[in-house]
Amino acid sequence: MTATHTLTQARRVERLVTGQATRDGAGVKLTRVLTQDLQQRLDPFLMLDNFASDDPNDYGAGFPDHPHRGFETVTYMIAGRMRHRDSAGHEGLLQNGGVQWMTAGRGLVHSEMPEQEDGVMEGFQLWLNLPGKDKMCPPWYRDIQDAEVPRLTTAAGVEVRVIAGHSHGVAGAVQRAHTEPLYLDLQLPGGAEFEQPLPAAHNAFLFVYRGEVEVPGATPTTVARNRMAILANEGDGVRLRAAGGAPARALLIAGQPLREPIAQYGPFVMNTREQLMEAVEDFRNGRLG
Ligand code: FE
Repeated sequence: MTATHTLTQARRVERLVTGQATRDGAGVKLTRVLTQDLQQRLDPFLMLDNFASDDPNDYGAGFPDHPHRGFETVTYMIAGRMRHRDSAGHEGLLQNGGVQWMTAGRGLVHSEMPEQEDGVMEGFQLWLNLPGKDKMCPPWYRDIQDAEVPRLTTAAGVEVRVIAGHSHGVAGAVQRAHTEPLYLDLQLPGGAEFEQPLPAAHNAFLFVYRGEVEVPGATPTTVARNRMAILANEGDGVRLRAAGGAPARALLIAGQPLREPIAQYGPFVMNTREQLMEAVEDFRNGRLG
């Protein structure tokens, strides 16, 4: 297959990462792909969890009431149904292909509970940091149903769902000024190539969840299924290709680093220890909702 190369220098893979199996909420089985030790390297991203199971024992207990403060959560449901409710009275149903973008800001208490008793539940939750000046902003959220997620198909047949940022002239569902997040879900036919321009300063990574993906270059790297590839901060974009003659599916996520101190205590992410203590105190005293 021929491809039109528009990038001068594409990023190479700096490091491959295998996620850590864990449980969270009331015992939901998941893989923590972006772990706390990678928060500086992948600033402004704080966490990426992948859940994928057809066993209700792995997901049925869900995530009962819990607080958040200081960042944004982006939940992308590939398959399944999850209902969320928060202390501000908002409620929504997240299902097959839908996205929930929530800005916790100064804080809220919410629950994320499966609304299915069997079948597959598969999806992702990404945590995106807020700049210090916005950490205490009013909470906000938006449910974006599958049909509302902007999408495009490239000449090579790559289907791109643009959750955030811009790709090939299509504006994503959400834009953010300071972190400038790019969040793409790519479906690549066998052998198909995809290019995405990206400023070298933006931190970027790839997570492959179907098939395998090759990042070409002087030393091509194959990214296996369920692996994250941290992309080096260089060149003018990302080039990748479905490897092994089979279709592939991957998330491409990038953003502008905030370069601020990161202080985390569980579901609170602030700049300083004092702010964390204040968050815990506010939660204890019912001031998060
Ligand atoms: Fe939550």
